[in-house]
Amino acid sequence: MPPTSLPTAGFDPVTPTPDPARLPTDAAGSTHLLQLGGLPPAAVRRLLERTRRVHTLMGETASLPLSGPAQAPAGLRGLLKGRVVANLFFEDSTRTRVSFSVAARGLGAKVIDLTSVGSSVSKGESVADTAANVAAMGADALVIRHRASGACHLVARTLAALRPGRHFPAGRRCAVINAGDGRHEHPTQGLLDTYTLAEAHGRLDGFDLSGLTVAIVGDVAASRVARSDIAAMTALGARVVCVGPPSLVPASLGALGCALSNDLDAVLPDADAVNVLRIQFERREPPAGATHTPGPAAVVSLGEYARLYALDADRLRTMKPGAIVMHPGPINRGVEITPEAADSPRSVVLRQVAHGVLVRMAVACECLGVSDF
Ligand code: ASP
Repeated sequence: MPPTSLPTAGFDPVTPTPDPARLPTDAAGSTHLLQLGGLPPAAVRRLLERTRRVHTLMGETASLPLSGPAQAPAGLRGLLKGRVVANLFFEDSTRTRVSFSVAARGLGAKVIDLTSVGSSVSKGESVADTAANVAAMGADALVIRHRASGACHLVARTLAALRPGRHFPAGRRCAVINAGDGRHEHPTQGLLDTYTLAEAHGRLDGFDLSGLTVAIVGDVAASRVARSDIAAMTALGARVVCVGPPSLVPASLGALGCALSNDLDAVLPDADAVNVLRIQFERREPPAGATHTPGPAAVVSLGEYARLYALDADRLRTMKPGAIVMHPGPINRGVEITPEAADSPRSVVLRQVAHGVLVRMAVACECLGVSDF
């Protein structure tokens, strides 16, 4: 699958603002995080630096109670008080949805959770109409996950086209934050992966990743995580190598600025981090009559795939000292990674999850114009 390029008429998500460290803002003043691809490195670095400040203020635990009046520590507490963050998740999610909720609640926002089941999406309402309605009720930010690449751009353009004073109270702003759109991008995952990589290799000062090699292994073609990782990590100087069979790592991915390989065993000894991806069964055509099995275009057989590309105990031993194992989840143990690798001392998988809360706090503050930390 070639790199996804989306129409941007009406709102351009990547052209730098006068300050290249700032996220693009539309004519109404709403700041959106739709993708990392094409953002100036300064904008990526700024979000990571804000994450680091959140991390320092949160302390090492970096987690909040999942229920009850979750409160961030002084310095962060109440930063989003009076704000409304709506999570519009039109596709399944565990980590991302919970962590956006925990982050926004921890900063004092009111959080609305909407899924396609139980909302008017199941009655045929479009994502743009649903989003505009939730925004009209006063949401300050829409966190959107959708199976279609470009859904978040569509919503941002729709909101930008609403007329102040007629459709919307004049001066009303509403940020759109992409929580994963189809095969396109998953920018907050890209940021948390980059933050975790920088932390593990002592690069939190300045986030200069030059000299580091990251192997992204598996179903890169269908992965929005890979696109966001490649954008952020290469912007900060890392070398990224995508590894997998040609059906999952086609030559067209080279246009994203990464190297490509079909030989995991050749790449692993040079990698400072390996990010293992699940085969995105739900984004591939199953053979007739089957569900949730890879089609012939994905892999010949899961056994063969695992033999050539699964990260297992033998392959772990070929990695450099200090090299880390990452995975965005959900993990399919025994397919792309074995339990020995997923649970090994090299694994930073749960650290990634904890960092997700920090990143989403930083992103929510950035998109909602909160600059007090
Ligand atoms: N959780 C990630 C995503 O939403 C990765 C995956 O589903 O495999 O893209």
